[in-house]
Amino acid sequence: MSRPRLNQGLVQVYTGNGKGKTTASLGLALRAIGHGYKVFMLQFMKGSKDYGEIQAAEKYLPNLIIVQSGLETFVSRDNPSRTDIELAIQGLNTARKVISEGHYDLVILDEINTALDFNLIEPGDVLEIIKSKPCHVELVLTGRYAPKEITEAADLVSEVTLVKHPYYQGVTAREGIEY
Ligand code: ATP
Ligand code: MG
Repeated sequence: MSRPRLNQGLVQVYTGNGKGKTTASLGLALRAIGHGYKVFMLQFMKGSKDYGEIQAAEKYLPNLIIVQSGLETFVSRDNPSRTDIELAIQGLNTARKVISEGHYDLVILDEINTALDFNLIEPGDVLEIIKSKPCHVELVLTGRYAPKEITEAADLVSEVTLVKHPYYQGVTAREGIEY
């Protein structure tokens, strides 16, 4: 039996300085998988396997593939390492290939906006991927500080605004909630 494909795949951006961008994209992934779609998430600037979504995908969600292209350590905005840049470029090459092949219905490029803001990759390269993506592929770009070129090229842009975050009350990252 053939599986469903989207008639019209669009480009979505989740940006802003509040919490909820990566988790919004994972919510979309869950919804898509429920309808029989296949999801590929590429996480830029992340290298730790200690994320609940990675463990959940491996154990329970064969239709959700998560690949990371970053180091475990934080990237310095002013002075990224050569490896940070190389991994971001490699991530973009993987994304380009996965999107053009069209096997995955929903492709999430997690933290790609941050990678652009940190100048690890070029907006022109991302715009090229957006322009040439197959019609049926839904593309989601997450991360703070989405550049204007990218939000202009997108069909849907949601900005998550920081109103309150427990971090500022001294609550550090919690397993199962922040990672
Ligand atoms: P989440 O992964 O929880 O959906 P996010 O993708 O919106 O968050 P990022 O900008 O990617 O947020 O932030 C990375 C980490 O910092 C995540 O663990 C996130 O939960 C946490 N975080 C998000 N917003 C804030 C904030 N305003 N202050 C402190 N920590 C935050
Ligand atoms: Mg995030």
